[in-house]
Amino acid sequence: MNEPVWRGQLRERESMARHVTWRAGGIVDRAYTPADLDDLRAFLRAQPATEPVWFVGLGSNLLVRDRGLRGTVVFTHWALRRFRVDPDRCGIAAEAGVACPKIARIAAVEGMAGAEFLAGIPGTLGGALTMNAGCYGGETWGAVARVQTIDRSGSLRERPPADFEIGYRSVVLKAEGTHHSEEWFVAATLRFPRGDGAAARQRIRELLARRIASQPLNLPNAGSVFRNPPGDHAARLIEACGLKGHAIGGAVISPKHANFIVNGGAARAADIEALIELASHAVREKFGIELECEVRIIGEA
Ligand SMILES: Cc1cc2nc3c(=O)[nH]c(=O)nc-3n(C[C@H](O)[C@H](O)[C@H](O)COP(=O)(O)OP(=O)(O)OC[C@H]3O[C@@H](n4cnc5c(N)ncnc54)[C@H](O)[C@@H]3O)c2cc1C
Repeated sequence: MNEPVWRGQLRERESMARHVTWRAGGIVDRAYTPADLDDLRAFLRAQPATEPVWFVGLGSNLLVRDRGLRGTVVFTHWALRRFRVDPDRCGIAAEAGVACPKIARIAAVEGMAGAEFLAGIPGTLGGALTMNAGCYGGETWGAVARVQTIDRSGSLRERPPADFEIGYRSVVLKAEGTHHSEEWFVAATLRFPRGDGAAARQRIRELLARRIASQPLNLPNAGSVFRNPPGDHAARLIEACGLKGHAIGGAVISPKHANFIVNGGAARAADIEALIELASHAVREKFGIELECEVRIIGEA
């Protein structure tokens, strides 16, 4: 039998509940943690064209349904974790598995301004590029100079931001025209204006304190479940429907922040999805507003 050409770790029937911040959901057929970028290229090249492939960062915006996910998940966190700082040009070149709070800290230490918002986003750079993650006035793509992507054949490509249609929590590769791309992010170069490192560190502390005060961070969650509709807040609308504290199975609409669904202990993915449907139905009925789900839901129901 041929030896595998890759050096990373391949596991069969991996529980995705261990890899998403909701701590709920089904298993994936196969899960691969590459040794590094070269190894990821070799792994992808070796996959049959029919094998579904999913990239996952820290799972902080993801739900895998209870009956699981067919195909292979590639975990980027820990695998794609190299970064390089260019202080002269106020740039950080980072691989997709680097955590956003780490980028915020590096930028502050290196005297760059404007990366502080990343401190509150508990995902990887790859996830932030996919979602155009943002908060407190900052957005990931506001700092992107270029990205590096990989496709199923393991080919790498450098792309400028102009290759993407970038919106609020939405990034679409223009050539493909869909959110579900088969070209994944493996690295990006970010640029920030020069700033005062001490002031940036202070701002990070303030942003984190605001989050602790307003978000139910003591229970497993996936951040905001719905995008905010134009000119309004999903949390306000859900609260106005009287749904704060409403539970289905082990999932609860947080009494602290109505756009958060928390896992109160033994939630199934189906409980969480049922609450998502309930909240969007209630808001549609009461206000005529169609809430859009920000969280990505994949797998078999
Ligand atoms: C407590 C809490 C607070 C949060 N606050 C915010 C906030 O303020 N603002 C905000 O925008 N979000 C917020 N989020 C949501 C989440 O952290 C972000 O969406 C984050 O960018 C997701 O990164 P991730 O690595 O966890 O992605 P994952 O959840 O692992 O994946 C999300 C999606 O991106 C895809 N993906 C992941 N990596 C790659 C890659 N390298 N290439 C291509 N596709 C990829 C996945 O397939 C999936 O579709 C919060 C979440 C939590 C739990």
